[in-house]
Amino acid sequence: MKRLLILLMAVMLVGCNSGSSSDYSEKQQKILEEHDRLDYANNDCEKKDSLKVMLDSDYNDNYIESYCALDIDKDDEGVNALLDAKLSDKEVQAYLDIDYVREKNIDRYLAYQKDNSDKKVKDVVLEVNLNLDEKPYEEISVIEGEDITMLVNKYNGLPEGYVPSDLVDINYTCTRGEDYSCADVDQQQLRKPAAEAYEEFVEAAKKEDLDIVAIASYRSYAYQDGLYSYNLNASGQEYADQYYARPGHSEHNSGLAVDITFNGYNFNEIENYDGYEWILENMHTYGFILRYPQDKEDITQYGYESWHLRYVGEELATYLYENDLTLDEYYATMK
Ligand SMILES: [Zn+2]
Repeated sequence: MKRLLILLMAVMLVGCNSGSSSDYSEKQQKILEEHDRLDYANNDCEKKDSLKVMLDSDYNDNYIESYCALDIDKDDEGVNALLDAKLSDKEVQAYLDIDYVREKNIDRYLAYQKDNSDKKVKDVVLEVNLNLDEKPYEEISVIEGEDITMLVNKYNGLPEGYVPSDLVDINYTCTRGEDYSCADVDQQQLRKPAAEAYEEFVEAAKKEDLDIVAIASYRSYAYQDGLYSYNLNASGQEYADQYYARPGHSEHNSGLAVDITFNGYNFNEIENYDGYEWILENMHTYGFILRYPQDKEDITQYGYESWHLRYVGEELATYLYENDLTLDEYYATMK
């Protein structure tokens, strides 16, 4: 108790000493003194906390008036880059108010905003983070690791020849040869966690008189390569890219996607039948999302696919379902 009291008094003393002359730490004061700004900072700076953030990170003396006028948080990125671009404080603030501004994308935001002057800053940031300012397949990031939440799209591809490490056979599949849309494979497969969730989901659906089957699930890199190359040679790149994912860019290659139908309906019409609503409303509790929804074509860069489910795990699937977000948006709005 006594020791605590002494400690407390010591803390108070130290606090008084540094606080009496200035709001700024010794290190911060030193920078301000170097630029002959200590007086300004003490007396005329409106947003001292913002100035402190910049003094601790990337202080540029040319911008001290802006720092003192803006609300800058510790995790705001690209403040100086935005000021370098000669944006007004109000315009800079609009960027800083968005949680997912990324410093590395600042130049792209500014270029995209120039070309789309009617767009709100929020949409500019979101769309650039989604890479929509770039053509599909122009700048490709190679996916590392095997996280079940991995983002596979036209900007993020699996490594050449990727084979998931935990593929297992699945039950509840279509009968090859009987159904025209059934995958032409000996045995359909998914990655283990997706396979287990899929079977649980199908069993729950049975209680609702829905007889779900998988018509396509894991597809190999080589298969997608063959499919894409065939269409590329036969009909040209524009056609091939419109209808077929390039190798490494199909979610089916991840072993986490499954195309389904139920009760014998054509897979590409299932949204019209009773029971589909149950699927839509319940699959997230088994970890699945509808990967290419109807109203998000511009974001996913894919047409509506009522049949294509993607496993991401229950937690993320529920979050995306409840917030009406695609996987692409989730990644684009991450800090
Ligand atoms: Zn599919």
